[in-house]
Amino acid sequence: MPGEFDLIARHFARLTPPRGDVALGVGDDAALLTPAPGHELVATVDTLIEGVHFFADCPPAALGHKALAVNLSDLAAMGAQPAWALLALTLPRADDDWLAEFARGFGDLARAHGVALVGGDTCRGPLAVGVTALGQVPTGQALRRAGARPGDGVYVSGELGAAGLAVRARRGELALSAALVAHAAQRLDWPQPRVALGLALRGIASAAIDVSDGLLADLGHVCAAGGVGARLDLGAMPLPDGALTLTPSDELLGSGDDYELCFTVPARHEGAVSTVAEQLRLTLTRIGQIEAEPGLRLVAAAGEVRAVAARGHDHFR
Ligand code: ADP
Ligand code: MG
Repeated sequence: MPGEFDLIARHFARLTPPRGDVALGVGDDAALLTPAPGHELVATVDTLIEGVHFFADCPPAALGHKALAVNLSDLAAMGAQPAWALLALTLPRADDDWLAEFARGFGDLARAHGVALVGGDTCRGPLAVGVTALGQVPTGQALRRAGARPGDGVYVSGELGAAGLAVRARRGELALSAALVAHAAQRLDWPQPRVALGLALRGIASAAIDVSDGLLADLGHVCAAGGVGARLDLGAMPLPDGALTLTPSDELLGSGDDYELCFTVPARHEGAVSTVAEQLRLTLTRIGQIEAEPGLRLVAAAGEVRAVAARGHDHFR
């Protein structure tokens, strides 16, 4: 069995290519990084715990990918360019094959976004993965949760709900068609952080958040931060085919793990959204509008409007 230091040397010390702004990476007591002049440093951390955030049979490559992806998703929601990451790994045992796969999933995504792994921590204990991701944004240009104004369009990238369906199917609560099982599993295990979208939305979006706890909860945060509300059109929601026949809409829109961006756009910038969608080859859907009255209202297909709770995943409820 490899020791702690061989394990770091073997799997993590040279996982990502060097960056010119890393004066010192893995191997010292801490990393030395040189942020670009005129930029703000954007910092986020997220932990994935076995049995809470992922199932025990999650493939290690998917876990490595997802641990970084959920953090890059937070940077994307801020409009930040990712640059550096730190990895805190708690492992029940030092299994070389498992670590090689985990490192492959983490490393492939890191390289795809030009992120350098510059440090971390390795301990023994119940399986948990904590990633700190650092990025940069030109000073004053970050996207925030606050900023949505009445009349702004509400948009979401990609598709919502499939990851939540996968969780419920794996718990045995729901039976999915063969096609949907594969699609939902892909969405749950291999989320694609919308980094390019976050960058493109600087100067266009009035507010942004990543959808990690469910659209209703996350849009609820945007509304609370802006002191506004929203009217949502259920018929416009980008949901998987047949999803609404499997589970009620509030459940679908209250389930987590989508890792899409939800953002608001003032009328004068709405024309730019379709250009961004074309450039990025990414579906961007207008799902509603910001209103002055607080709270979320859902317009069903038949036209009736009802209030919906801004509920979603919460560890302590
Ligand atoms: P210290 O005891 O000074 O905190 P460690 O022994 O924990 O240092 O780590 C040694 C070096 O290896 C440090 O540079 C640390 O950032 C890095 N490191 C530890 N674990 C990981 C990991 N899982 N991935 C990347 N770097 C790591
Ligand atoms: Mg340490």
